[in-house]
Amino acid sequence: MEKRRIAILGSTGSIGRQALDVVRQHPDMFEVELLTANNNSGLLIRQAIEFDVNTVVICNPDKYREVADALQPRYIKVFSGMDSACGLVQGDNIDMVLASIVGFSGLKPTISAIEAGKAVALANKETLVAAGEIVMDAARRHNAPILPVDSEHSAIFQCLQGSRGAEIAKIHLTASGGPFRTWDKDRIAEATPEEALKHPKWSMGSKITIDSATMMNKGLEIIEAKWLFDTPAEKINVLVHPQSLVHSMVEFKDGAVIAQMGHPDMRGPIQYALAYPERLPLNNKKLDFTALGALEFHAPDRDRFPAMDIAYEAIAKGGNMPCIMNAANEVAVQAFLDGRIKFYDITDIISACMAGVDFVGSPDLDTICMTDEAAASKAAEIISQKY
Ligand code: MG
Repeated sequence: MEKRRIAILGSTGSIGRQALDVVRQHPDMFEVELLTANNNSGLLIRQAIEFDVNTVVICNPDKYREVADALQPRYIKVFSGMDSACGLVQGDNIDMVLASIVGFSGLKPTISAIEAGKAVALANKETLVAAGEIVMDAARRHNAPILPVDSEHSAIFQCLQGSRGAEIAKIHLTASGGPFRTWDKDRIAEATPEEALKHPKWSMGSKITIDSATMMNKGLEIIEAKWLFDTPAEKINVLVHPQSLVHSMVEFKDGAVIAQMGHPDMRGPIQYALAYPERLPLNNKKLDFTALGALEFHAPDRDRFPAMDIAYEAIAKGGNMPCIMNAANEVAVQAFLDGRIKFYDITDIISACMAGVDFVGSPDLDTICMTDEAAASKAAEIISQKY
């Protein structure tokens, strides 16, 4: 494989740090050209020095001076603000962009990379949830390959190698069930942020960990899968699989099912996206089948975890509805983390926003951005009035 020159958007987050660990194991395969971070200037500076990058962007302008003072003497270029990131990802010195910014703010730089025809390793799920049709259209027009990094979508993508889309009968999207899988509804209703942040299987950032607890994460992933694999939501089936060893499965029209397995470790899907179509050796834990024990698969409990039905409803309505759902969820999750609302208020607030924000059937990118703002302010308004 020719050395790939990569940009990592959101390098100080959980996916960004694990991606740099993959690069650390294969320094001859990758050249890190660009790193961006929102706020964590200290870690960004250390990463830039270790990987001797060309350019960094610190989005928070208040941190610009600190980063510039540390890196400019080493001839590393330093910029501030998300707009700089949108321009820099289009540079000729970049082959592939890892989009690992959390939340809706990852949308613009991802679109910008696609418009320059870059290969995009996509870890930001909100991009496809809020603007799936626009993003996939742009990827087709600009010949930009989209390589999924989310573990389930990487699994599906791996299962589909050598197959044609028309052969898919069903996608089985697996879910760990999160920290409240065995809790009854009354106990879940009183759950604290600390309890919700204790994910049984995966080590991830706080937003996605709360999304796993509500199972909105699976809702977002249904929508992601629909766009990535051009498969209607009715053919995407969620299975709770507490062992988290089968990362998803594809059932074909002849009844054959292909599963992708491994210990839960995001470095696997990250290396698959970064090195595709090759595979790289990794110093991760390997499966010992004689020690695995039983693998369980259950239907999800839609009464205790209403978020999945909300997501199916959003994707059935289409248009800007998934964007409304996503924006309301981002605000509600933050309010839950801040201790302002209770656990089931998250899904109540999302439903209220889906009913209360203007629906647009065929939104363009500007409409999507306006919808995100409108739904976020609606959610904030509900929280300040009712809670
Ligand atoms: Mg996932």
